[in-house]
Amino acid sequence: MDVEEVDLLVVGGGKAGKSLAMDRAKAGWDVVMVERDKIGGTCINVACIPTKSLVESTRTLLTTREAGDVGVRVPRGPEVDLDRLRAHKEGVVAGMVDAHSRMFPESGMDFVLGTARFVAPRTVEVTTRDGDRRTVRARDVVVNTGTAPALPDLPGVTEAGVLTSESILRLARVPDSLLVLGGGYVGCEFAAMFAAFGSRVTLLQGGPQLLPREAPDVAAEVARLLTGQGVDVRLGARAEAVRRDGREVVVTLADGIEARGDDLLVATGRVPVTAELAADVAGVRLDDRGFVVVDDHLRTSAEHVWAAGDVAGSPQFTHASWHDFRVLRTNLTGGDAVTTGRLVPYTVFVTPELARVGLTETQAREQGYDVAVARLPVSAIPRAKTVHDTVGTWKAVVDRANDRILGVALLGRGSGEVVTAVQLAMLGGLTWQQVRDAVITHPTMGEGLNLLFDTLGWEESEGVGVPDGWAGAMA
Ligand SMILES: Cc1cc2nc3c(=O)[nH]c(=O)nc-3n(C[C@H](O)[C@H](O)[C@H](O)COP(=O)(O)OP(=O)(O)OC[C@H]3O[C@@H](n4cnc5c(N)ncnc54)[C@H](O)[C@@H]3O)c2cc1C
Repeated sequence: MDVEEVDLLVVGGGKAGKSLAMDRAKAGWDVVMVERDKIGGTCINVACIPTKSLVESTRTLLTTREAGDVGVRVPRGPEVDLDRLRAHKEGVVAGMVDAHSRMFPESGMDFVLGTARFVAPRTVEVTTRDGDRRTVRARDVVVNTGTAPALPDLPGVTEAGVLTSESILRLARVPDSLLVLGGGYVGCEFAAMFAAFGSRVTLLQGGPQLLPREAPDVAAEVARLLTGQGVDVRLGARAEAVRRDGREVVVTLADGIEARGDDLLVATGRVPVTAELAADVAGVRLDDRGFVVVDDHLRTSAEHVWAAGDVAGSPQFTHASWHDFRVLRTNLTGGDAVTTGRLVPYTVFVTPELARVGLTETQAREQGYDVAVARLPVSAIPRAKTVHDTVGTWKAVVDRANDRILGVALLGRGSGEVVTAVQLAMLGGLTWQQVRDAVITHPTMGEGLNLLFDTLGWEESEGVGVPDGWAGAMA
């Protein structure tokens, strides 16, 4: 067997892996990256990018329905054109896939479309798309094989012909009725989208609230939002079995009640893609759910084998995987970076969106902080009135001991952008009073941060308004 020796081998071209492969190839390393079938990874092909393209169609639809209120007549009302809607989504995806197809070879890496499995320490056998076999050994190997939709262990679920977050993107019609199993962010986003497109959507969530990682009041507001948009939100609806009955899919719930729909989207979580990797052959330890076990430097149990992104148990977001890339780049070039203590924000793209960073009120109290809570209805923000979108509430949790911001949950238009300002304030250690007193452009949604923290009162704090060193810049 001929073994090709390289500096870096990346198995799976997700966000961390492809970024590292391009970066190191440009730096002159000999790099091979093996990708099974998605040029650019999950995010671009079947997750963030196609779903957010569809969310934009949803938003345009919802905005246009209210266009009359801001003096724009749309006489027959907006209609969904499924072909154009798919073309928009597929155009965005194809553009990004094309760009990656160009960028990979331009970086100087050897990009291989194929499936890799370990055959020895730091060595994989690749079965390429066109049926060839290659064996590659590297000084350093990075596993970035991601996660895939999980089917729950429910009687009948495999035979019933259910949809996943990937197959629903290929759906050629808007179903009259859609059941969504799972009230995490993927379930909520698809439920909101299809309700806007005209499906009767029933969202079945086994637990007592949607979005289990959120504080109960925030999750309850998202549930009210979805209900107001026509989604039948059923909490405590634990599925026990699934079956097909003619053209319908039927979910039997624990209380014996049946929920029926033309289609069933299963959105109950994701599993790591490691089953066919033969990780043990390379000495790479997996946990009991199949995730690669890594330390805070993203080192696996095998020397010079690293893992990143979803498969390494990082928070399941593209930006977390991208940060893993930066940690790996540092560590592979002699530095010392860790993943611990990082602040990972996220946005749930219902309409309007819920953006989060830091601790929830529940987490802060559980961790023993003496918290103060600020709340602001979005209707109080002038910009919200001008854009005719006053839905939502902003909430912040601060530490009374040192006035630092512990976290925010911002439900409202533009929150996914505004949350970055809060994140930077947290990273910079600003007090809530400094954010309250910052001069922010009017009228913007960001200005709502002044108003949000104003609700905590008006006592001055040290250095109010102007962090050290900024006075000159403000003259
Ligand atoms: C519906 C949905 C919406 C989402 N929306 C967002 C969002 O808005 N924002 C956000 O930040 N995150 C979002 N996510 C999460 C985000 O998509 C993931 O966290 C991210 O894509 C994980 O990237 P990764 O680097 O772990 O690897 P991935 O991008 O998953 O890449 C892994 C790659 O490895 C390949 N592979 C697997 N096994 C092998 C093998 N043996 N040989 C070769 N190649 C292999 C796979 O084909 C895949 O391309 C969403 C997820 C879903 C499901």
